[in-house]
Amino acid sequence: MADIISLLPDHVANQIAAGEVIQRPASVVKELLENAIDAKATQIQLLINGAGKTMIQVIDNGIGMSITDVRLAFERHATSKIKSADDLFSITSKGFRGEALASIAAIAQVEVHTKRAEDEMATCLKISGSKVEDQEVSVAPIGTSIAVKNLFYNVPARRNFLKSDKVELRHIIDEFHRVALTHPEVKFTFMQNGTELFDLPAVNFRKRIANIFGNKIEEKLIPVEEMTTVAGIEGFIVKPEFAKKSRGQQFFFVNKRFIKSPFLNHAVSSAFQGLLRDQFHPGYFIFIQIDPKTIDINIHPTKTEIKFEEEQNLYAIIKSMVKHSLGMFQVTPALDFERDPNLDTPYDFQQKPPSNIPSIEVDSSFNPFQNSEKGFPKASKSSWESLYSGLEIPNEPSKTDEELKLDIEQIPKVFQLLRKFIVTTTRSGLLVIDQQRAHQRVLYEKFLSSITKRDMVSQQLIFPKEIELTQHQIALFGELEANLNAMGFVVKQQENLLHITGIPAICDDKKLGQLFEDIFSTPDAQEQVASFSQADYMAKILSKSLSIKGNFTLTVVEQQALVDDLFACKDTLTSPFNRKIFITLDKEELEKKLD
Ligand code: ADP
Ligand code: MG
Repeated sequence: MADIISLLPDHVANQIAAGEVIQRPASVVKELLENAIDAKATQIQLLINGAGKTMIQVIDNGIGMSITDVRLAFERHATSKIKSADDLFSITSKGFRGEALASIAAIAQVEVHTKRAEDEMATCLKISGSKVEDQEVSVAPIGTSIAVKNLFYNVPARRNFLKSDKVELRHIIDEFHRVALTHPEVKFTFMQNGTELFDLPAVNFRKRIANIFGNKIEEKLIPVEEMTTVAGIEGFIVKPEFAKKSRGQQFFFVNKRFIKSPFLNHAVSSAFQGLLRDQFHPGYFIFIQIDPKTIDINIHPTKTEIKFEEEQNLYAIIKSMVKHSLGMFQVTPALDFERDPNLDTPYDFQQKPPSNIPSIEVDSSFNPFQNSEKGFPKASKSSWESLYSGLEIPNEPSKTDEELKLDIEQIPKVFQLLRKFIVTTTRSGLLVIDQQRAHQRVLYEKFLSSITKRDMVSQQLIFPKEIELTQHQIALFGELEANLNAMGFVVKQQENLLHITGIPAICDDKKLGQLFEDIFSTPDAQEQVASFSQADYMAKILSKSLSIKGNFTLTVVEQQALVDDLFACKDTLTSPFNRKIFITLDKEELEKKLD
């Protein structure tokens, strides 16, 4: 039998290896930006076309490369940053594995222009699919420009795997933020399809945060600082009342590298304990300077996890540092965390369309007081009374039986229990409905149908509202706009401001801020929005934000309207979040329990 093992051709090996370093356009952006930083650039331009699928270009004014170096730079394991494995322990540069350029050139068409200060002429090098196509003398300013075109052009499987432009662009913006935050002393510009997304002048760290996340954030920042033998730490935390539902403003940098650390994140979060509402996450921008010997740097270049030798100490230091700053700046919980829900305008049941046809049997003729032909059964009155306590039951003794009977007709067939459940009757027994889940179901179906039918009624806001958006949110808004309109929102985006002038009639304007926070900040919003289920996602978010909650008093009219609305729904059994909406207690069960 013939030998069956053969070595993979270089270009195939390169393509496979490239997959580890370059997963998507954002990976290229990260590598190129970091190379520019390593080359000591003070000005870096990022140009993107087609969310990086068509073209990614980074232009820097750094040290440039010689004619030989530029050629070598594209070889695997070609790096100017370390010479031996020992150097690994004292790395201060971003890259060191010498893999990025080789990987990028294996799966794209690359064109480089580079010039060192000491050279007369620049060099232009063109490589596609690892093959050098052309190298010639060119004219270019000092520094390096690398353009990467048609990423994955020769690996269709990977190209097809890429997400929508919006999603890929958001990944690019994320990487851009991370590098730009680490280097406020460098001027960055970012153009996408010829439009400027960011123009970040060289400033200090605080201003850089403001330039990226909007000027309003500046007054929300509290400085943190702690110098110990374990590490030097400094940065900013965001005041608790401005915490977000997303984790978009959580940044740890270790030795000027962005890292993700659930462990250290926990340290910060626990310092914020008691200051944040449920599901809100603290914002922070924290730099840690630490002896490289005490961290595990032998990490994959695309991985952002890190291991610390002194993990426990670091945790304690960060926690106490954050607590200290929160105390110093006298940040106390905002008073309205436990706002009385009764002060909120209740869901407007008056505006609901005329009654619907229940799809389960609700005994409309049921009246607890009508079981006696001889009028009002006095003996049982008090027990019923207590059951209805809290509701206004006409009960003046001076009334005649006939008058009483009339009043009794008005007695509701529903009542609220513990301000959380609505109890109603069916022919065969009792129904206990969770008011919040029922309301979520009703709203969910309303919004879902309004998205499809585009027939939602808007109400105009007397005081139009403005919401500041991050670049992320602007992109997200672009995708959501059509559905928001369909649901009755009248919104206009102007640069980084969202003007809201109209909202769905069934929406309470007091909840507006929260609502948009929810829409834009749900952790997986981006994926959800990009997928086919956007309508479902929107309807869910809105139903959740706008629904009445438990511990909320409803009038009898509202209770009845909710029951009617619920049983007009397509699905009456479960909430949009798959929770049971009601339970029944029928005659048999009651008899059994009373046995
Ligand atoms: P690494 O950054 O890990 O060394 P890369 O493949 O990213 O590996 O880059 C290879 C080499 O190319 C770098 O070590 C550096 O010498 C050179 N290089 C890359 N980009 C630039 C740039 N923008 N300016 C100057 N030199 C660069
Ligand atoms: Mg590099």
